[in-house]
Amino acid sequence: MEKKLYTPFELFGCEVGKGWRPLVEPIYNRIQELNEQGAGIEITQIKEKWGELCIYLSGYTEELEKMIKQAEEKSIHICETCGKPGERVISRFSWIYTRCPECIKEEKIKVGGTVDEYQKKLREAGEME
Ligand SMILES: [Zn+2]
Repeated sequence: MEKKLYTPFELFGCEVGKGWRPLVEPIYNRIQELNEQGAGIEITQIKEKWGELCIYLSGYTEELEKMIKQAEEKSIHICETCGKPGERVISRFSWIYTRCPECIKEEKIKVGGTVDEYQKKLREAGEME
């Protein structure tokens, strides 16, 4: 018997918060349009990684690559939970979240700092050497 290997997308669906759905939808719709023309592109995974949206496909067109890159770049300024403007923050347990101030409070995220602050510190440390 042949076993089908399921992609994480088939198993878990869209693994990101609803705040990012508006970023995902145009890409999803475009893939469906392309597939109606026989492109056969599958979404393999949609997830959050270090506070950033990540979309993986079984195949890419130049247009899709560009759309995905733009959505991923936008995601680090949009609250994953509610879609309001947000910022990447690091929790005390070193998890990175992209959230607005209200959702940080609501979800009781213990913020240790923002990613921007952290990156600035790293750059400064590098300059001192
Ligand atoms: Zn929010």
